[in-house]
Amino acid sequence: MPHYEFVCNDCKKTFLKTLTIAEHDAEKTACPHCGSHEVEQRWSAFSAITSKKSA
Ligand SMILES: [Zn+2]
Repeated sequence: MPHYEFVCNDCKKTFLKTLTIAEHDAEKTACPHCGSHEVEQRWSAFSAITSKKSA
């Protein structure tokens, strides 16, 4: 089962959800911390960390 990482734009917390494609398309994902629907999916968390430059 694929895990999707989301970040909430309201409380800035991240969370993981396991969704099928059908579920992902059918409903908006709500933040489990504050219930907000202002969430963004994070796709490349691991690669972003490993390729991060100290600018
Ligand atoms: Zn939230």
